[in-house]
Amino acid sequence: MNKKGLLIVVSGPSGAGKGTICKEVLERRDDIFVSTSATTREPRNGEIEGVNYFFISREEFERKIAEEEFIEYAEVYKNLYGTPKETVLDKLNQGENILLEIDIQGALQVKKRYPEGVFIFILPPSMAELKSRIIGRGSETPESLERRFSSAFEEIEFVNQYDYYIINDQVKRAADLMESIIDAERCKVIEDIEEIVTMFKEEV
Ligand code: 5GP
Repeated sequence: MNKKGLLIVVSGPSGAGKGTICKEVLERRDDIFVSTSATTREPRNGEIEGVNYFFISREEFERKIAEEEFIEYAEVYKNLYGTPKETVLDKLNQGENILLEIDIQGALQVKKRYPEGVFIFILPPSMAELKSRIIGRGSETPESLERRFSSAFEEIEFVNQYDYYIINDQVKRAADLMESIIDAERCKVIEDIEEIVTMFKEEV
């Protein structure tokens, strides 16, 4: 069967641990590929161009918006982030499963354009835990901490726009759940019913 790949979109408030869960799932599976976004933010220590992000100027980013090179883009904490359209759509057409770890504004844009994607929302076990995880990163000023924490409260309400939620109380368990969701989605009958029937009929 020449099956299209699955577009897996993962979001959640900062500190919910979506990055850690995605990393764990990507390490376990060789049939899921991550899309590298473009961003105007400065690289952090250890981040690699073309691996973590394509680090580009605001001018270049704006040119790409004008030329409709993104499936979605959004401004997150004063920096622009966007998902390259052509690479992602080509890979899906070639049957590759693609994971996007993007913010909620971006995920909702993807949902409009590509509703057949699977949309997963990562939740922290509690708001207290979320706060201590954000503090634990040590990279926040008191103002940015407050900003991230209050936007986390607002963001959680968007869970109802997603297909699935995962409470990240333990990384292993959360990654197991994400794998189960992906596997179940790959086994959905709806789009493939004719191909499945044909495949078996051709055999007899
Ligand atoms: P960070 O700067 O910590 O790498 O990412 C900040 C936020 O931007 C995270 O919530 C991350 O999921 C989101 N993000 C990363 N890439 C993209 C993208 O291509 N599009 C959108 N909309 N958000 C992104």
